[in-house]
Amino acid sequence: ADRDLDVVTFLASRRHAGTVALVDAATGRRVTFAELWRAVAGAATALAAPPLSLRKGQAALVLSPNSVHFPVAALAAMSLGAVLTTANPLNTPAEIAKQVADARPVLAFTTRDLLPKLPAGLRVVLLEPERLPSDPDAVVATIGEISATTPDAARRRERVTQDDPATLLYSSGTTGPSKGVVATHRSLISMVQIIMTRFRLEGSDRTEAFLCTVPMFHVYGLVAFATGLLGCGATIVVLSKYELPEMLRAINEYGVTYLPLVPPILVAMVAHPKPLPLGQLRKVLSGGAPLSKELIEGFREKYPQVEILQGYGLTESTAIGASTDSAEESRRYGTAGLLSPNTEAKIVDPDTGEALPVNRTGELWIRGPYVMKGYFRNTEATQSTLTPDGWLKTGDLCYIDEDGYLFVVDRLKELIKYKGYQVPPAELEALLLTHPEIADVAVIPFPDREVGQFPMAYVVRKKGSNLSGRDVMEFVAKQVAPYKKVRKVAFVTEIPKNASGKILRKDLIKLATSKL
Ligand code: ATP
Repeated sequence: ADRDLDVVTFLASRRHAGTVALVDAATGRRVTFAELWRAVAGAATALAAPPLSLRKGQAALVLSPNSVHFPVAALAAMSLGAVLTTANPLNTPAEIAKQVADARPVLAFTTRDLLPKLPAGLRVVLLEPERLPSDPDAVVATIGEISATTPDAARRRERVTQDDPATLLYSSGTTGPSKGVVATHRSLISMVQIIMTRFRLEGSDRTEAFLCTVPMFHVYGLVAFATGLLGCGATIVVLSKYELPEMLRAINEYGVTYLPLVPPILVAMVAHPKPLPLGQLRKVLSGGAPLSKELIEGFREKYPQVEILQGYGLTESTAIGASTDSAEESRRYGTAGLLSPNTEAKIVDPDTGEALPVNRTGELWIRGPYVMKGYFRNTEATQSTLTPDGWLKTGDLCYIDEDGYLFVVDRLKELIKYKGYQVPPAELEALLLTHPEIADVAVIPFPDREVGQFPMAYVVRKKGSNLSGRDVMEFVAKQVAPYKKVRKVAFVTEIPKNASGKILRKDLIKLATSKL
């Protein structure tokens, strides 16, 4: 019978009634679980009725920074069997329009500030308490209004099964055009259960408080709030955007115990001259991009009371395909951890398609209940990424050691092709980060008529350093095979990164080649 339940009903039937579900870190406003479920049920009733008339299978867009309203809108839509789709609020109107044209949502939840970024013609539910006379006609309702509707379960029920699509999230677009990834209710349910088990967030004697500063529009943030609200009954402390002082204030004021973040935030925490006050914080999860040995060591030294966990995954795997679940594991430096429960994996030679033995590097393929259904309206991309028997080709170059630990070497698409050789930029970046005068670094392919491409490094020097380009090149040359040498260096004050902490190599390549 469980198969016939949507993710909200299946997981949220656990109560936690009196505890706090959501806190707005900026205003201190609290929503209890009882209030949350009433708001979700009320909103679902209003969404299903005219004039909104949202139906199973239709897409509903949320375009919003993190807010306490985001989960209400997302859960109400999903409980109806509608498909939640999201967009990055930092995107331009043209980028948003392109995504809307692909996802074809029938309505959009957005804030008053972001409304002008939406293409015309969409019915809008404002993520604001009330309507203003100045709101345009496209605004049909506000989240405040629809969540106050009297819930009517009979009216909104359409049968939703775990095989029905729940989300349509767009991949970050780091290595190519961003693609719409369809995941089912089953994907989300299994991911919530995996995270609770792997990070021991279930059945504790005290309520956990998660700080949600990773973006809710991305699979990382979505799965974080879903785990807290639908899984373990944690309080979600919501921060609309990341800033270190704000984050620290929220951690201390609301007794945050678990903090999912991306490596650049860890960098800031470690770079601080003195250990920062972290209150009751016990676990940080780093995901989205590789974590260097220096960073893990630096963090351990400064914050010995906090366990550092790591998660590896993709939008296509509904977040986490592998993770480290204890201090001991993440001391196996460089590992992204053990595979998630219920996951099969193999390492495949990308040229021959042949499966490779332990410790050999190739493309990681994974199979598990959380793997996407496919790319939205893109059969070609789906066929080249998902095999007919359910393997997801991750596009990541990895190896698995004899004890089953996964090591991510680099992304296949980002390999630098020097003469006939392939150079993984992530390997050079990790090496450069061991230099005592380098604060941050990105390595990109630089086009060259003779050799194809060679590695170029963009380097952020530490304060007071006079490091030269020649120093950087010599440092690398001493430690790598000649084909991997860095052959060009530029100094910058910051490495551009996206919301999930990934280096925006495309931007740097454009910068490097614009001067040619
Ligand atoms: P696009 O496919 O459009 O280029 P994207 O792949 O950057 O977008 P995401 O789904 O956000 O979009 O990113 C997934 C990728 O992030 C993984 O394939 C992997 O390369 C990288 N990644 C995630 N977590 C880790 C980790 N812990 N260590 C190393 N790499 C990671």
